[in-house]
Amino acid sequence: MSFLDRFISATLPIVPKAVVGLIASRYIAGETLEDAVRTVKELNASGYKTTVDVLGEFVDSREEALSHVKFYHEVLERLESEKLDSGVSVKPTAVGLSVDRDFALENIRNILDDASKRNVFVRIDMEDSPYTENTLWIYRQLRNGKKLGVVVQSYMRRTEQDVRGLIEEGESNFRLCKGIYVEPEKIAFKGREEVRQNFLKVLDIMLQTKTYVGIATHDEYLVDGAEKLIKKYNAPPTAYEFQMLLGVRHDLRDRIKARGHKMRIYVPFGKSWYGYSTRRLKENPAIAGYVFKSLFRKL
Ligand SMILES: Cc1cc2nc3c(=O)[nH]c(=O)nc-3n(C[C@H](O)[C@H](O)[C@H](O)COP(=O)(O)OP(=O)(O)OC[C@H]3O[C@@H](n4cnc5c(N)ncnc54)[C@H](O)[C@@H]3O)c2cc1C
Repeated sequence: MSFLDRFISATLPIVPKAVVGLIASRYIAGETLEDAVRTVKELNASGYKTTVDVLGEFVDSREEALSHVKFYHEVLERLESEKLDSGVSVKPTAVGLSVDRDFALENIRNILDDASKRNVFVRIDMEDSPYTENTLWIYRQLRNGKKLGVVVQSYMRRTEQDVRGLIEEGESNFRLCKGIYVEPEKIAFKGREEVRQNFLKVLDIMLQTKTYVGIATHDEYLVDGAEKLIKKYNAPPTAYEFQMLLGVRHDLRDRIKARGHKMRIYVPFGKSWYGYSTRRLKENPAIAGYVFKSLFRKL
């Protein structure tokens, strides 16, 4: 971690909200559904698919979780009525996983049923390790025959086994990413190279078994490695896609798309942007470093 990263991480709590907002505006579509729809339309018009995330994690009341679910219905309705090329991403704790596992299951089932009627794909995001087991459990309960996928993180030591198990048990659909939370070494790889090598190892398993994968990274080393594996297994465009976050590495996303790969952009929006932004910045000081630098580029 560089000095700048440590400095930003330590001083973030005293950074004024307006400054965080300025930084965040590049990475978040806005506060309203209109903002998200506008961003998705622009991305679709440029040949990108999207997945929309309603911001709001770590909800600890049933009421709040239910209002989040209700909002997802509005999002789904708009995606269908505007004929947008977009799925939705759902964070389990935003729909009640920290309240009760069965409650979260029913809430995600509720969103999934509506999405299925509208032919919209649902991706269950992966949060920090206290929720890994229950998130995969929810995925197992709901996935059969449904347009549903889950995220796995290559920094988690358990991921290879999880992926092998899920593939053996039935049809699976993954987003593979490095992972954004801070986890103890006992359960997570800590070295940059270890995380990369595990990413490629797990991706190899997915492509070899023809399991659909969203390759979610901005790391050119991994993009190169993924392209080699796609070639090795002669994977058709129906077997995988690349995914990137809104506002990150436009040069790279354009190049990947220009090489003929499907590219999906993750579009977060909502009133909880402040908590999301500061948490992301604090959780991953390296990202704080990028955004801080990009702030100065803007000025
Ligand atoms: C579509 C998508 C969905 C995701 N979903 C989840 C999830 O459900 N759970 C989870 O734990 N994590 C998720 N992540 C985050 C992921 O785990 C990583 O933390 C994040 O992608 C950074 O890792 P990287 O592979 O891009 O490599 P890095 O080495 O971190 O980044 C590679 C390069 O990309 C650039 N870069 C990366 N991030 C940023 C940024 N924010 N701003 C500016 N430049 C940047 C930098 O130039 C950097 O050198 C998701 C990521 C993506 C792309």
